[in-house]
Amino acid sequence: SRAKLYQPEGGPRTTFADVAGIEEVEQEVTEIVDFLREPEKYRKLGAQIPHGVLLSGPPGTGKTLLARAVAGEAKVPFFSMSASEFIEMIVGVGASRVRDLFEQAKKVAPSIIFIDELDAIGRARGGAQSLGGNDEREQTLNQILTEMDGFTGSEGVVVLAATNRPEILDQALLRPGRFDRRVTVSPPDLSGRRKILEVHTRGVPVGPDVDLQALASATPGMVGADLKNLVNEAALLAARRAHATVVTADFTDALEKIVLGTVRGIMLTP
Ligand code: ATP
Repeated sequence: SRAKLYQPEGGPRTTFADVAGIEEVEQEVTEIVDFLREPEKYRKLGAQIPHGVLLSGPPGTGKTLLARAVAGEAKVPFFSMSASEFIEMIVGVGASRVRDLFEQAKKVAPSIIFIDELDAIGRARGGAQSLGGNDEREQTLNQILTEMDGFTGSEGVVVLAATNRPEILDQALLRPGRFDRRVTVSPPDLSGRRKILEVHTRGVPVGPDVDLQALASATPGMVGADLKNLVNEAALLAARRAHATVVTADFTDALEKIVLGTVRGIMLTP
């Protein structure tokens, strides 16, 4: 079933309309979108497009979402792999999976390969973590580097990778021709949170009393994934309460539940 493993993802297309509050970051990746749409235009001029773009930022800020949106905007296939899944693999399998993944992506290029949690395999070598049992990780990492080094520029494959911990990455990954473009995805500010709430309430019947600006003010420190969860919790409460729409009380109770849950979670952590 290996041939099946790296099918491009199907399903509804994600676009920039689904991503909110990180407009500067969208700007930075529009060149990639443009290249994937019209690789010929760049090729003719001999322009070198980055092979690899590293998206760094805290969990839940929308790195995966953004990578999907780049593929969606460019209307190209999106292949995704989570780096951590390679850690559990039998030695030798990780590298061959990487080879397969790049092969599939090249076949249908222009296309995008997305590597989530790059730090899981891309950690600097020789650290405390590498005391034994890391052959698989190193082989997988080396295979990714080999594949990227093999790009001549005409493949039309762009590799996007995400990490929460760019500082622990092996410097070899950041060399020219590899992940030489770095994009930082920051947690949203007040206006960003408001825009994210707008995106996630698009398909939700929201009561006339609901003030998304006030909700954005009440959620400092929350990232996109948290806000999405908040809207969903509020909708669940509204359903349980047999409300026709999701009203302010549903949102505030959902927020309280989430905040208390977080506090309890922290207190239970040894
Ligand atoms: P992780 O590092 O944990 O993988 P991530 O940065 O890749 O996190 P996503 O998986 O993209 O975050 O975010 C999870 C979900 O949260 C997204 O599918 C989306 O629904 C929502 N979300 C996150 N950020 C945004 C955003 N900027 N705009 C709209 N929705 C967002």
